[in-house]
Amino acid sequence: MMREKISDGMKKGLVHETGMIAHGRGEAFDYLLGEKTIPPADDAAVAAAAYLKKAKNAVISINGNVAVLSARECVELAETAGAGIEINLFHRTAERVEKLVKFMEGAGARDVLGMEADARIPGLEHDRGKCDRDGIYSADVVLVPLEDGDRCEALKKMGKQVITVDLNPLSRTARTADVTVVDNVVRAIPNITRHIREKHDWNGIIKKWDNRKCLKECLEYIEHRLSSFY
Ligand code: ATP
Repeated sequence: MMREKISDGMKKGLVHETGMIAHGRGEAFDYLLGEKTIPPADDAAVAAAAYLKKAKNAVISINGNVAVLSARECVELAETAGAGIEINLFHRTAERVEKLVKFMEGAGARDVLGMEADARIPGLEHDRGKCDRDGIYSADVVLVPLEDGDRCEALKKMGKQVITVDLNPLSRTARTADVTVVDNVVRAIPNITRHIREKHDWNGIIKKWDNRKCLKECLEYIEHRLSSFY
C-alpha cells in the first residue's frame, strides 16, 4: 500500500522521482527492524513529544513522501502539538509546493506554509534553502521527517532544535538531529502524537535525552536481530 501511494504520488506530481529511491532505502531499513516500532524508537518518540511540547514555535516540514504516506497523521500531530505545517522541498518547484499545499488542505490542514518562500536557510544553494519567514525560518523546533543531511545540518547551524524521523540510523540526518526517531513515518508520527497526549516530566526527558545512545541502541537491535536469524 505504501509503495502504491508513493507511485501514485509521483504520477500526480506530488512526489519527486528521487522520492521513490528514498522510499526503497527506507523499506530496506524497515525490513531490518522487523517493520515495527522498536523500543529505542519509542523512547525517541517520547523525546520528540517533549521537544514539541516545550517549543514556543514548532513547525513540521512536509515533503512529497511524507505527505502521501501520512498527511492526516501529520495534521493531527500539528493540531495536538500546536505546531505549524510547512511544505519544504529538496527539489522545489512552485507547482509542486502548490499541489502539496492543496493535498495537505484536503487532509484537513489549515494555514499551510511554504508558498511565500520569503526567507533562506543560510549555507544551502538557492532553491534548497528557500523557506517561509513565519515558518521554518523563525521556528525554534522543527520536525523534518525524511530529511537530507545537508539541510538538517544547516537547520542545526541556525540554532534550531531538530527532530527527524529516519529509518536509517546511519544517515547524516540521523546523526545530526537532536532527536532521531528510527521508525517508519507512518508509525512514528501517530506515536509522537499519542505520547504528547500523555503526562510526562517533559523537562526531565529533554535533560536526560542522549541521541547518540539511542542510535547505538537501534544499531544494536538490528545487529542482534540479524545475528539470531539463522
Ligand atoms: P543523509 O543525507 O541524511 O545521509 P540520504 O542521502 O539517504 O541521507 P535522503 O534520501 O534525503 O537522504 O533521506 C531519506 C531518508 O529517509 C533515508 O535515510 C531513508 O532511509 C529514509 N526513509 C525513506 N522512507 C522512509 C519512511 N517511510 N519512514 C522513515 N524514513 C524513511
